[in-house]
Amino acid sequence: RDLFLGKRYESTAAESSASNSPPAERYEYQAEVSRLMDLIVNSLYSNKEVFLRELISNASDALDKLRFLSVTEPELMKETLDFDIRIQGDKDNGIITITDTGIGMTRQELVDCLGTIAQSGTAKFLKALKDSKDAGGDNNLIGQFGVGFYSAFLVADRVVVSTKSPKSDKQYVWEGEANDSSYTISEETDPEKLIPRGTRLTLHLKRDAKDFAHPERIQKLVKNYSQFVSFPIYTWQEKG
Ligand code: ADP
Ligand code: MG
Repeated sequence: RDLFLGKRYESTAAESSASNSPPAERYEYQAEVSRLMDLIVNSLYSNKEVFLRELISNASDALDKLRFLSVTEPELMKETLDFDIRIQGDKDNGIITITDTGIGMTRQELVDCLGTIAQSGTAKFLKALKDSKDAGGDNNLIGQFGVGFYSAFLVADRVVVSTKSPKSDKQYVWEGEANDSSYTISEETDPEKLIPRGTRLTLHLKRDAKDFAHPERIQKLVKNYSQFVSFPIYTWQEKG
């Protein structure tokens, strides 16, 4: 199973927090993921709004997965929580958060899912890219195949995923940056950020993508995508 394990690095002193919590550990992306990220980060693909469709569909998948697995493993539902997706835009700081109450990820699942390409859509994308003779072909391919989670890097230069699986007693934080060949995983220790179950994605938007944090913009996009999602999606409207 070596293929599915990110390369682990010694964490540096700078990464360890002052408290007694274990330090963040740094992992290198699988080569294919690095390639995909480079492509996304440097892409001239203009239809960047697809990131929201991809991330909503992941949230929806996570809720579906929980519902499905809990039929045979009812203990996964020990937290009584509504099944929903919440999207908040903070236009002053250029931040979008997407929170779901789905299955979440354990630490190992974070490494397996957000550091390697184990899933078919993206693998197909890379194959199509390889086969594509057209030098500018990648821009169309992003739209055609969808690039899943990594599409967050179409609009964000830093992505934080804080996630709590009902199979784990700890909540973990995955952090990745555009133009970086590695990511970190640490334990969530900020009590204000603890969630009972599910996943919260925080997108720190690039300078030229900060408009996406406007609640009106988010609402408009959500309206388009939500018809394919069977869970409620709440968006925030700032007061005043
Ligand atoms: P795909 O959705 O096609 O599998 P993605 O790149 O969109 O590919 O996501 C990769 C994997 O990361 C998913 O299969 C899932 O295991 C995990 N994942 C992503 N987002 C979430 C989420 N919100 N909750 C739980 N797991 C997630
Ligand atoms: Mg997906």
